[in-house]
Amino acid sequence: MSIQMTHRAGSESDSAGPSAAFPEVTEPVLRRVQDTVIAWFEEAARDLPWRAPNTSAWAILVSEIMSQQTPVARVEPRWRAWMQMWPTPADLAAAPTSEVLHAWDRLGYPRRALRLQEAAGVIAANLDNRVPETTEELERLPGIGSYTAAAVSSFAFGRKTTVLDTNVRRVLIRLFAGRERPTSSPSRKETAWAAGLVPEDEHVEWNAGVMEFGALVCTARNPDCPACPLQDICTWNRLGRPASATKPKTQKWAGTDRQLRGAIMDVLKAAHAAEDDRHGVSLDVFTTAMTDFDPALLDSLAESTAAAVARVRELSADRDRISRLISDLVTDGLAQQIDGRLALPNR
Ligand code: SF4
Repeated sequence: MSIQMTHRAGSESDSAGPSAAFPEVTEPVLRRVQDTVIAWFEEAARDLPWRAPNTSAWAILVSEIMSQQTPVARVEPRWRAWMQMWPTPADLAAAPTSEVLHAWDRLGYPRRALRLQEAAGVIAANLDNRVPETTEELERLPGIGSYTAAAVSSFAFGRKTTVLDTNVRRVLIRLFAGRERPTSSPSRKETAWAAGLVPEDEHVEWNAGVMEFGALVCTARNPDCPACPLQDICTWNRLGRPASATKPKTQKWAGTDRQLRGAIMDVLKAAHAAEDDRHGVSLDVFTTAMTDFDPALLDSLAESTAAAVARVRELSADRDRISRLISDLVTDGLAQQIDGRLALPNR
């Protein structure tokens, strides 16, 4: 069985070469891939709680937002807790934002939690508390991009969409285009190409299956090609798995602003949990120079809050940097600053 490699000339490029277009795929090959992925998914799919029958569209939407940039293992307990606390959009919309950010816990990128609450507010106020079905309507909600809209429309409502996350893109690019990895974001051409690979029937299973296949088998760093049921027709495998010319950008964490922002947010969440934040945490605990730091500043804080402050101070950031990041957190709506004190937003 062979794949028709009709590379079209085009402006699309990735790290593998200057004219990496998207090849046409013959019907027999496409059918084989679709059938194989769907059968594999039925056998091997993880038993994730949001895949249970009768899971609400709202619960699926929450799972999709949480799963962006966060591993499923960390998402699952948070998702369960959220769905207990806020089973409908109206419940989340009515929650104090400080509570929402605290419950987001360590999922990272907490602005997602704010956007999710904003989306809940729109759904509750304007859409009769019902998550909309179409990608067009979903994309009008705060924080919902094309990937999330396609995933919710497919997985919650069974509509035919093209779900194109990084896992899906990697599988398709390796299988059919023979490249190690896709570009940083999909072009219109790639999106249209991927849409042509979605089957008329079983499109939900295909969308979920390719995504899962990319997460479990055709992974970014260690694809399990020897065990792959598509190894005989995978173009990248048949070409000897050539490495892309450039390495993917690795997101370093240690020493970054993200790390420091996260550590400051941990202080505010700890204070919230310990009810230290009725008046906030003094800015001095963050910005006082180490040589002037008086440990008595921590005496009024709960043990967990003081420990979180210690972790911020261990990062040895200078006063200007800390002040800039605190200012950014306030601007982003993730914190509020009143009378020299910092707390989770009290909305
Ligand atoms: S053979 Fe390897 S690269 Fe190709 S689809 Fe299978 S796991 Fe992915």
